[in-house]
Amino acid sequence: MSQPRPELLGNSSDGTPFLIGQRCRHCSRVAFPPDPYGCEACGALIDQLDCVELRAAGVVQAVATVHRHHREVPPTPFTVAAIVLDDGPLLKAVLTDQSAGAQVGDRVYGIAEPPDSSPPLRFTREHGGPGVDR
Ligand SMILES: [Zn+2]
Repeated sequence: MSQPRPELLGNSSDGTPFLIGQRCRHCSRVAFPPDPYGCEACGALIDQLDCVELRAAGVVQAVATVHRHHREVPPTPFTVAAIVLDDGPLLKAVLTDQSAGAQVGDRVYGIAEPPDSSPPLRFTREHGGPGVDR
């Protein structure tokens, strides 16, 4: 069963995927996913938050291999990583099968999967494309 592509992702003109987050005008906190009510750090209201594009690149902080989960996709086993994005927020994401051996401290890059894939974005240790620095 496929899931709709969330509106949290986009592709730049050179094909590099990015995430859509928010930056607070008061305290500069960057959030992903966007906060629905306002800034969790300083309490600024939603109208004080700006949408920002976040590079889909960062550093692995933790990894775990999933052997059982409640959905059929992605098929098990797969590897999930906690990644601190270069633009600030930490997110959990699925790594490509080729990057299943990733370790804490590895640089990873987002790659867009086909539109009906789940998840629509995975991370890999290989450089993802133009516009993303190593
Ligand atoms: Zn704030």
